[in-house]
Amino acid sequence: MKIVDVGIHVVAPMDTVEPVSGARLGWVFVEVHTDEGVTGVGECSNWPMHGDLLIARTLEIVRRDLIGRDPAHIERIWQELFHRQTYLGNRGLITTVISGIDQALWDIRGKVLDRPLYDLLGGPVWDDLLLYTHPWGTTPEEIVATTRQVVADGYTAIKHDPFAEMWRRFLDYRGGQISRRGIRDGAALTAAMREAVGPDVELLIDLHGNFNVATAIQCIRALEPYDIGWFEEPVPPEGLDALRQIRRQVDVPLCVGERLFTRWDVLPVLQDGLVNYVMPDVCWTGGVSELKKIATLAETFLVPISPHGAQGPVQIVAGAHVMATVPNFYRLEINSGWLESFNAAITPALEIRDGRLHLPARPGLGIELNHDFIADHPDPDWVRTP
Ligand SMILES: [Mg+2]
Repeated sequence: MKIVDVGIHVVAPMDTVEPVSGARLGWVFVEVHTDEGVTGVGECSNWPMHGDLLIARTLEIVRRDLIGRDPAHIERIWQELFHRQTYLGNRGLITTVISGIDQALWDIRGKVLDRPLYDLLGGPVWDDLLLYTHPWGTTPEEIVATTRQVVADGYTAIKHDPFAEMWRRFLDYRGGQISRRGIRDGAALTAAMREAVGPDVELLIDLHGNFNVATAIQCIRALEPYDIGWFEEPVPPEGLDALRQIRRQVDVPLCVGERLFTRWDVLPVLQDGLVNYVMPDVCWTGGVSELKKIATLAETFLVPISPHGAQGPVQIVAGAHVMATVPNFYRLEINSGWLESFNAAITPALEIRDGRLHLPARPGLGIELNHDFIADHPDPDWVRTP
């Protein structure tokens, strides 16, 4: 079997522009086609600031190296793509491109062997995948109302960034601090969310790497009374020593990983005991192959893994297949507010009951892209190279 083409789909499912960053919300899907008619699907969506377009353009270039290759050589192709980019820095851009290809190659392998992907990774240790989701809305009233709604839908953990002042200038890190009023407003919203859900629902707080050490600690201390399950990315991802300072100065559960790429980025965080959870993204950190390796690495430190994955539908399914086989799995992220779009883009629809995802017992990832939906929702900013 040989790879004969790589399809790249840049999709704008909701035709909306992300209000804070100005980037279009979307997905990048990869389809690896073979000479025997078997096609594998993967996702390497990125955000914000036109990350999708950077990834798609890089995929256009990398795809040339895949034509004629044996799709069963998953690890070999991963290693080649990764190590070739050493002089550009083999993290981030290339690992995201690799992620989409790697998922598609595993999908092909499962289809060829007629087994679900989780069977190829050791078989399921979990029959279904515990999820966490997000509230939505812009006002505190809307956010509390949608928090109540997702709990009524059966979800038992919710993640939110309550520091709205920072969101208004998202990715504009300058100074890494917000006003005392901004911290107080974040604490008030978190108190209202805790009040709304009661003591048994987990509240996770995403600080989005927005803060300097002093401000992150102020934010964490302001929210401590509300029994927070984890504080995510309190400082920018490159601030490993800053994370050490946070660890020394506050006694709360911490979590990082969506901007750690490959096992090499995760290792020092684990070795120094800086976090209670890791949350790599199957679309960014290196795909199915790398997520499984990172999970095993975290297992040796007895640290639970909870993949980041709120953007697209193939991402959620790919992460779920790996996590079904991982004993130290904690929860899988999903953005339940986008479920309608997710389910319009893939067949069959995601099967979610009582806050848990049930994977289809079908070969490979067990899903296919809905090409009618994709054709109807092209990203207008994407122009394929002739
Ligand atoms: Mg995050």
